[in-house]
Amino acid sequence: MTPIERLALLFEKFPGIGPRQAQRFVYHLLTQDGEYVSSLTSLIQDVRSGVRECAMCFRFFAHGKTTNLCSICSNSERDHTLLMIIERDADITPIERSKTYNGLYFVFGGTIPLLDQHHTKKTRGPALRAIIEKRLQEGLKEVILAFSVNPDGENTTRYVEVQLAPFQEKGLLVSILGRGLSTGSELEYADAETIKNALKNRSKQGFLEIPPEE
Ligand SMILES: [Zn+2]
Repeated sequence: MTPIERLALLFEKFPGIGPRQAQRFVYHLLTQDGEYVSSLTSLIQDVRSGVRECAMCFRFFAHGKTTNLCSICSNSERDHTLLMIIERDADITPIERSKTYNGLYFVFGGTIPLLDQHHTKKTRGPALRAIIEKRLQEGLKEVILAFSVNPDGENTTRYVEVQLAPFQEKGLLVSILGRGLSTGSELEYADAETIKNALKNRSKQGFLEIPPEE
């Protein structure tokens, strides 16, 4: 295999990138000057060594020398009574940009596909329970579920609802982000106005039905 083909294969692993786009990336790189390519390669290396996962919300952040908490989790000006559970890091950007949410986050690490029960291993269900336990002692009052409006997202919402049921009995409010969006839309691409409405229209009624213990 040629270096061009090998690099194209690596680009194909990027989310949403197919073989044709991957090949265009390679040819794009070939037309750039050496400085561009060397700053790209060194940044790719830096991003591995200079970025870590936040111990509370699991989002990636450029860490300082001592902290293991990101700028959101360590910010006392944020509303620590609110925690939004999102699928991935990229969901935070449009919400922060909308300036309509001042609470905390938890990056769940994906969704649980409706037809694949074993995927729960790749997400952070157990970590979530531990974090909620910790956050409750710091004044947490409400958890907002913000998964995609599609079958996998809804499946994940149900899974997390069951995980949170014991905390609801202790008074934790669990709400679901209202979308006002068409089915299938993703938070990552939502604009500020949509996010504002989705937050305003989040459901807080007792929707939970806990399946009987087996
Ligand atoms: Zn954090």
